[in-house]
Amino acid sequence: MIPPALEGFFPANSHAGTAERYVVPVVGRDILIATGSREVVVEREQADVMRFFCERRIVLGQWNGIDCEVWQLSSECRSMEGFGVTDLRSLLLSVSDDQFALVSRAVQMLEWQTTHRYCGACGAATESATEDHALRCLACNISVYPRISPCVIVLVRDGERCLLGRQMTWPEGRFSALAGFLEAGESAEQALHREVFEEAGVEISNIRYVGSQAWPFPGQLMLGFLADAVTTEINVDGIEIVEAHWWHYNQLPDILPPIATMSGRLIAQFIEEAEAAAAG
Ligand SMILES: [Zn+2]
Repeated sequence: MIPPALEGFFPANSHAGTAERYVVPVVGRDILIATGSREVVVEREQADVMRFFCERRIVLGQWNGIDCEVWQLSSECRSMEGFGVTDLRSLLLSVSDDQFALVSRAVQMLEWQTTHRYCGACGAATESATEDHALRCLACNISVYPRISPCVIVLVRDGERCLLGRQMTWPEGRFSALAGFLEAGESAEQALHREVFEEAGVEISNIRYVGSQAWPFPGQLMLGFLADAVTTEINVDGIEIVEAHWWHYNQLPDILPPIATMSGRLIAQFIEEAEAAAAG
């Protein structure tokens, strides 16, 4: 028996040997979804029409207790009758967390294998290991595993206000919580202090972990936090962040990240807590 928290998608490197089997059909970085369906997997029989176009398959684990693998299909399948292509970002907004975790893993595993065909040490071709998901160099016995890059994202609060910034490449009016990659050797807490200070010139304290989210654009893990401001004077770096302001919880910017993203979740939690404090 697996714990309820692991029902739905259970990532694994080998099949459990179930009678049925699910397939996640992928073309490029997009998922093929049967017309009229809301499922990101198809049953094995349905996948048979794609078998001819399958260039690679990787075990993903079990989906609702049934073995599941990803098939990388050639580009002809984009126009396959009875199916449509959907990109990962659209799925983020339209499917459950479980389904998104499954397609994230599907796309990331394929991409990782495609970009690690040769050993970084000696240049020999790598091979898929049989016992786990590593790619192995037989010449120098090095194994490489899927690369996951941790990032921190934080909503900094100053009482009833929160700090939101606009990145250089974003349109006017679009704001989000501050975020950045961890440097090698750095803790998540250090990265939070550094990113907020570098991007907005603000010092923080009382860091509180909220949750994490796989972010397959391409292989990040978003770690979400709330924190309190120690200083409130804003001084943007002008490189990553061109504009940042303190926003009152009932006068937030027009364009905010959707709730399906970690940033959206942090903002929602801030509003909830601020409203409760104001009412209380
Ligand atoms: Zn090597």
